[in-house]
Amino acid sequence: MAAVEAASVDKVGLELQAILGDRVSRSQSVRDHHGKDESWHHPIAPDIVVFPHSTEEVAAIVKICAEHGTPVIPFGAGTSLEGHVIADRGGVCIDLMQMDQVLTVNAEDLDCRVQPGVTRKQLNSYLRDMGLFFPIDPGANASIGGMTATRASGTNAVRYGTMRENVLALTVVLSDGRIIKTSRRARKSAAGYDLTRLFVGSEGTLGVITEITLRLYGIPESITSAVVSFPDLKSAVDSVISTIQMGIPIARIELLDKLQVQACNSYSGLGLAEQPTLFLEFHGTTAGAEEQAKLVGEISGEFGGSDFQWTGQLEERNKLWEARHNAAYAAQSLRPGCQLWATDVCVPISRLADCIMETQADLEGSYLQAPLVGHVGDGNFHLTLLIDPEKPEELEEANRINDRLVMRALAMEGTCTGEHGIGSGKMKFLQAEHGDAVAAMRTLKLAFDPQNIMNPGKIISL
Ligand SMILES: Cc1cc2nc3c(=O)[nH]c(=O)nc-3n(C[C@H](O)[C@H](O)[C@H](O)COP(=O)(O)OP(=O)(O)OC[C@H]3O[C@@H](n4cnc5c(N)ncnc54)[C@H](O)[C@@H]3O)c2cc1C
Repeated sequence: MAAVEAASVDKVGLELQAILGDRVSRSQSVRDHHGKDESWHHPIAPDIVVFPHSTEEVAAIVKICAEHGTPVIPFGAGTSLEGHVIADRGGVCIDLMQMDQVLTVNAEDLDCRVQPGVTRKQLNSYLRDMGLFFPIDPGANASIGGMTATRASGTNAVRYGTMRENVLALTVVLSDGRIIKTSRRARKSAAGYDLTRLFVGSEGTLGVITEITLRLYGIPESITSAVVSFPDLKSAVDSVISTIQMGIPIARIELLDKLQVQACNSYSGLGLAEQPTLFLEFHGTTAGAEEQAKLVGEISGEFGGSDFQWTGQLEERNKLWEARHNAAYAAQSLRPGCQLWATDVCVPISRLADCIMETQADLEGSYLQAPLVGHVGDGNFHLTLLIDPEKPEELEEANRINDRLVMRALAMEGTCTGEHGIGSGKMKFLQAEHGDAVAAMRTLKLAFDPQNIMNPGKIISL
């Protein structure tokens, strides 16, 4: 599909202005802001950016785009990492951040309905006084719409699952402007195809998500965090595998390699021993959380873990997890001015140690710095390659490391991405991972979006 012609852009712009007034922008700075995510991928600006306030406005926007065959790129907080929002064919970017209302909270049923521009931190501030929380926490303060569209997860997924497990229903504007609801609030349903799961992780390629019904949880009576360091990476990973295999209902178990610990120490002022380290958290009753902490302390001791420190103090816990959520920015500070090539893979937990150790050996042969960090309780880990994308040799080297990492994970029956998604950056791995299923995905894409206007050039090539 070619980029949109200037005359057509003018026409679309005028029709959009008729319904949105000054919530249509063609200014260069607004367009530039919407043509990039937080990764190294070269930005490409959309032609027009719009800021709707309701599902009906989104439907009207999409209808206009469909009539003109203009690409539509939904946009949340713009924190994705695989070139998800790059407008490589131009078109209209729908910025959903002004649709930022929490619409209902059903405390008795432990669910809520929100607009897509609500951020995860905003939702948790809203819920706190009700004794409730929403656990999915990508490092960035992403929007719930973007998190749904990327099937995001984060540090709590080992206990609470990912967006896949925590989205109950969606309102979606389809590529011809029709509005559908994918499900109801019931916890279970066996009624028809599961369209909710289809749209979770669809990255804007099938429709625009305008309302999300989410599962909520009661804030645990007791929350205890811990830190433990290990003599080497393998001991740390083996301790994680043992903890998970024993069925301890741990809430968070995060691995940082030595380089990432150094980065967090200097960026977030942590003062940790510069060794491979686990950050942990336990949720439950006071006695339950304490018992889990003691058990994990014993397991880590068996693997050489030292100085197991745990605390229930809110301030100390917040400092630890703030540092973990800022790990990518801490990594970036190791090489001022660099950009992030943040890649993630996920393997069955029994293969985690092999995958991490082989990756570490591969990195030893490279001149690029690449701190390793991971939601290892799920078998998911990240490399943050620090690159100057203007230097072709660095891009080539990062590409080589990334290719080998993904192929290693696939050979271990893992996936090319546990949580960041495909965007444009990981499209080349989809066939290797899914084989003939990619053709079925293509059939689905064309059924929902026959003109290929919904975030074209992402996930699937047509
Ligand atoms: C420092 C840092 C740490 C991160 N840590 C994690 C992590 O731990 N776990 C994790 O999963 N991710 C992580 N990420 C990646 C990122 O935060 C997630 O992918 C997040 O879910 C993206 O949400 P967003 O609102 O920024 O979406 P955007 O970047 O704006 O959009 C992402 C994709 O979703 C589509 N989209 C957005 N809104 C809608 C909508 N309403 N309807 C349809 N499609 C839509 C877009 O078209 C695009 O394809 C991290 C990123 C950074 C920068």
